[in-house]
Amino acid sequence: MSLLAVRGLTRRFGGLTAVDAVSFDVHESSIKAVIGPNGAGKSTLFNLITGFDRADEGSVTFDGAALVGKRPDAIVRAGLARTFQNTELFEDLTALDNVRIAADVGHPGGFLRSAVRFRLASGERDGAARAAYLLRLTGIDGFADTLARDLPHGTRRLLEIARALATAPRLMLLDEPAAGLNGAETRTLIDALYRIRDEGVALVVVEHDMGLVMEVAEEIVVLDRGAKIAEGPPLLIQKDRAVIEAYLGEECGDDGC
Ligand code: ADP
Ligand code: MG
Repeated sequence: MSLLAVRGLTRRFGGLTAVDAVSFDVHESSIKAVIGPNGAGKSTLFNLITGFDRADEGSVTFDGAALVGKRPDAIVRAGLARTFQNTELFEDLTALDNVRIAADVGHPGGFLRSAVRFRLASGERDGAARAAYLLRLTGIDGFADTLARDLPHGTRRLLEIARALATAPRLMLLDEPAAGLNGAETRTLIDALYRIRDEGVALVVVEHDMGLVMEVAEEIVVLDRGAKIAEGPPLLIQKDRAVIEAYLGEECGDDGC
C-alpha cells in the first residue's frame, strides 16, 4: 500500500515550470531518493508536499488523506516531517533538549493512532528517555549533553533528523542530509537511515552524494527541469540513458553515451 501518493504535481514561477506534472508513490518503511541537477525542482517538490508552497495543479495524498492546502504544522501532525538544507537548532540548548522541545510539536489528538507512531512514542514515556532513544537511533547519543552550538557540523545534521523524528512521523523528507559531511559522518548517517527505516518510518531523501543514494535507496526518482525523467531501482537508474544525458549534458547515440 502507498503511504504517500504524489499525482501530477505542478508549480510554476512566472514562465518557469519548477515542478512539472510529477507523480510517484512512497511505500511504508521504505527509502526513496530524489535526484537531479541543480534547479531540477527537488526542493520545490519538498515544499509542495510539506505545505510550505502551494501547487498549481496536482494532488498529494498521505495515509489516504489529501494534503494540498493544509498548513505545514497540520502536515507534521498528520505524521509527515521534514528537514531543511540549512539546519536550525536552539544553539543554547543541549542536543538532548533540542530533541525534547521538538517533540512538543508532535502531540496532537490521535497521536498514538498508528502502530508505528505508538512504537516511537511508547516504552519511553518520559520525554528525556524518549529523546535519548532518538539520539541513539541517529547515532549521536555521545553528544546528548553538548550544547548545539558546540556540535560538529555532521552531528548537527543528525540532530536535525532526531528533532524531526521527535514528532513521531511515518514519513520523513530529508533535503541533502549528507551536505558537508565527512566520510565517517556520512557512514553514521547511512546507518541511522537504515535504523530509522527499520523503525517503520518511510524516508524520501534528496541528495547529491551518489554513493549514499545508490547504497540506501530502494528506488530513485530522477528530476530534470521539473519533470520526472526516470524512476526505478539504483542499478537501472545508473544505466538509464535519459538520466546519463541529464547529468552529463550529452546526447546518447546508438553506440552509447
Ligand atoms: P533544486 O532543489 O532541485 O536545486 P529548486 O526546487 O530549488 O531546485 O528550484 C527549481 C527551479 O525553480 C529553479 O530554477 C529555481 O530558480 C526556481 N525557483 C525555486 N523557488 C522559486 C521561487 N520562490 N520563485 C521563483 N523561482 C523559484
Ligand atoms: Mg535544493
